[in-house]
Amino acid sequence: MNQISKITVSVNRRSYPWPQVPAIAICLDGCEPDYLDAAIDAGLMPTLKRIRKNGTERTALSVIPSFTNPNNLSIATGRPPAIHGICGNYLYEPQTGKEVMMNDPRFLRAPTIFKAFHDAGAKVAVVTAKDKLRALLGKGLTFSEGRAICFSSEKSDQTTKQENGLDNASSWLGRPVPEVYSADLSEFVFAAGVKLLKEFRPDIMYLTTTDYVQHKYAPGVPEANSFYEMFDKYLAELDAMGAAVVVTADHGMKPKHKADGTPDVVYVQDLLDEWLGKDKARVILPITDPYVVHHGALGSFATAYLPEDADREDIMARLSEIDGIDLVLSRPEACVRFELPDDRIGDVVMISSENKTLGTSEHRHDLAALNEPLRSHGGLTEQRVPFIVNRKLPELQSAASLRNFDAFYYAVVAAAQPVG
Ligand SMILES: [Zn+2]
Repeated sequence: MNQISKITVSVNRRSYPWPQVPAIAICLDGCEPDYLDAAIDAGLMPTLKRIRKNGTERTALSVIPSFTNPNNLSIATGRPPAIHGICGNYLYEPQTGKEVMMNDPRFLRAPTIFKAFHDAGAKVAVVTAKDKLRALLGKGLTFSEGRAICFSSEKSDQTTKQENGLDNASSWLGRPVPEVYSADLSEFVFAAGVKLLKEFRPDIMYLTTTDYVQHKYAPGVPEANSFYEMFDKYLAELDAMGAAVVVTADHGMKPKHKADGTPDVVYVQDLLDEWLGKDKARVILPITDPYVVHHGALGSFATAYLPEDADREDIMARLSEIDGIDLVLSRPEACVRFELPDDRIGDVVMISSENKTLGTSEHRHDLAALNEPLRSHGGLTEQRVPFIVNRKLPELQSAASLRNFDAFYYAVVAAAQPVG
């Protein structure tokens, strides 16, 4: 008979029980809840179907902007961007006029749950599809004691014991490095997770995928269904090995194109240039990253820095009038409502409607590479995500406002339950 451990780990003013079995959170990038429903209806996810019935199923709200990095870091820290600081892929420094990539660990302001558990003596493993997240998620981990592993599928042939806790993860797993734009990049994450659970037996494990498939394919289409069918097989293995598993997502995904298949975009920089003069205001799209092939840097969240002499109220009123812009907030309003770091947000925040995106200037978006009608995210209409636990958790059923960044809390709560 197992005793519930009295040890707890405190990080970012939340207290986590010590897991008695491995506690795993899986972030299915861009997993609009409809993807799971469609794949289950098609009979392709028997494991998840059983888990939804016998475990606990909820939906949760993601962080706004409903982008990948802010949500992954919220899941990793258990807190919103106001605490951890990562509110997009880019930030703008008005003092220097420079746009700076925010994927350097120095921008992360809070310790991760992985570091806190590792420091308390736990074994931790983190596998991410894209390497852009690896350094942020791995911040503060040390690999010399052999209790931490952190790597990406993308750079899995370049891992070392010193930097990642494992030499050449690609040959360790017996899988070649996948293409960066592929479903394989995510499958590699799941396969690595299964092997790590078997051989390394981490106390805490985070598996986070890429939304390449979800940007291209709608729920229920064969390519999407086969992605979730593939996931279900790995989920079955993780579940069978006795781990407590929480399945959630960083954000949903919605079609953002016109009837003819071309992207539906409000070009905000062009508007502000027209109203205030060329380049007087600066529009920042925090979705922008080096991998733009699947979304053309078009999402549903934008922030703008206005010139000092601009009439903010007037600009906000005019933006609110634009068809497709659903919400316009001042910096203070946005930072309170969405718990954002106010030193990394512009004067105005805009969110577009379900089927529209926000762009800078028309000529700056290279849409030639988009080979499917645009699907994207970033706004309130992509905030609802799955939250499924392979255990019965009465305390979760009554949680009033569940967030995706509660994933590790409920994973360790489930993993701290007495076995049997
Ligand atoms: Zn994402």
